[in-house]
Amino acid sequence: MRVGIGYDIHRLVEGRKLILGGVEIEFPRGLLGHSDADVLTHAICDALLGGAGEGDIGRHFPDRDERYRGVSSLTLLKKVGDLIRAGGFQIGNIDATVILQEPKLASRVAQMEATLASVLMLPAGKINIKATTNEGLGEIGRGEAIAAWAVAVVGNGEW
Ligand code: MG
Repeated sequence: MRVGIGYDIHRLVEGRKLILGGVEIEFPRGLLGHSDADVLTHAICDALLGGAGEGDIGRHFPDRDERYRGVSSLTLLKKVGDLIRAGGFQIGNIDATVILQEPKLASRVAQMEATLASVLMLPAGKINIKATTNEGLGEIGRGEAIAAWAVAVVGNGEW
């Protein structure tokens, strides 16, 4: 059994859709990035890659690569899931926290879990998503950015 950790942060800007965990969230601003900038999915990709000893998302999907401009991060997550399984690993569980001042995500968390689980071909119960504010502190507290942490357990055992 192995554990991986992932962290990501993206800037909130006008004129972009807000996509978190593959779900479009109604909000006046969205995250800036080369792909759809889905910070939660990026953190999960990094946790899975870390657990499998496969480096990080930037190594597999460079942001200089035009193939990934504007791409759905679910496409990247699917590739990460395939890569992990090709390496002989299964995914145990994933736990993640999104850190954002607004909007409230509680009503969308189940949809995010189901979306991510479906892409990774996992039962929804293996993915747990949480959200918290930054208590108004720092760039996240001022609503300038959204960050996410994720932890993943992978291994070659049976769960
Ligand atoms: Mg990112």
